[in-house]
Amino acid sequence: MKRFGILSMEGVGSALRSVISRVKEATAKRSSELPKTAPRLVAVSKLKSLDYVIEAYDNGQRHFGENYVKELIEKSKDVKIQPLNDIRWHFIGHLQSNKCNNLVGVPNLFMVETVDSVKLANSLNISWGKLNKPSPLNVMIQVNTSKEESKSGCLRDQCAELVEHIITHCAHLKFSGLMTIGEMNHDWSQGPNPDFTTLVDCRKDICEKLSLSLENVELSMGMSSDFEEAILMGSTNVRVGSTIFGARQPKQASNVSSMQGSTQLTSQEANLSDASQQNVTKDGLPNLAALNTDNSTDRDSHTALNSTT
Ligand SMILES: *Cc1c(COP(=O)(O)O)cnc(C)c1O
Repeated sequence: MKRFGILSMEGVGSALRSVISRVKEATAKRSSELPKTAPRLVAVSKLKSLDYVIEAYDNGQRHFGENYVKELIEKSKDVKIQPLNDIRWHFIGHLQSNKCNNLVGVPNLFMVETVDSVKLANSLNISWGKLNKPSPLNVMIQVNTSKEESKSGCLRDQCAELVEHIITHCAHLKFSGLMTIGEMNHDWSQGPNPDFTTLVDCRKDICEKLSLSLENVELSMGMSSDFEEAILMGSTNVRVGSTIFGARQPKQASNVSSMQGSTQLTSQEANLSDASQQNVTKDGLPNLAALNTDNSTDRDSHTALNSTT
């Protein structure tokens, strides 16, 4: 079904199918100790209009990731999204405790992947509890595997304690796994991404310390530039944005302030936006997003991406 005649939208379906087949191929190449089940694909639609989400939905995608509370609320409550009641939203951005009440109001919120402190876990627990939902909210703990100060996430040594806190004190949350963003532009010829290795080891620690079984603790790792490697290392949840939807507009101060009120971009988020631009140029394609500032940018760069994938 085609709801939109715009070129950029038509590219979403084929880009999505290409990512899905790459996910399957990578899963098939896993070593025999790892599960044969393909990871969940989360299509990261941040900074993309709702029409992109609907186009991916029409092509069978159900899990979507968003980074900004305000943007997620607007998208999830839009009249065009309301009928799509099996959509599943993942919050994957930096979350402030005072935004929890707003976030939990998102219809079909499936998972918050970025809990990184006891304070945040407690706020989210209280916010979700107030809604009297039939089931707890799925949460992952974001781990700052590279220990860079600019990045969000709890440190590996604090992780077990935070998991234990959630399991014992947050009845309205379900601890589902660990998430990392990982080093951008890792050179794979130098071996596996140390961030992914750390996340795998961190899960092992936690499972031993808290007597959990590995199968019950997910690993959210892998983005456009590295989801296949992450799958080979056991990722159960990959978050892919620009390879499905095309390059995002570079973030500008005005752009961000309209998304997030007065909140500043963290340098982590700035890195992510850089990385998605680099993905395009790395493939030898012109970095159109950097050259253009008008709305045709997404269309052009998306078409360029699709013609090679
Ligand atoms: C933006 C973002 C992604 C997707 O990045 P791409 O490189 O566009 O695939 C994944 N995870 C997080 C946390 C993000 O912020």
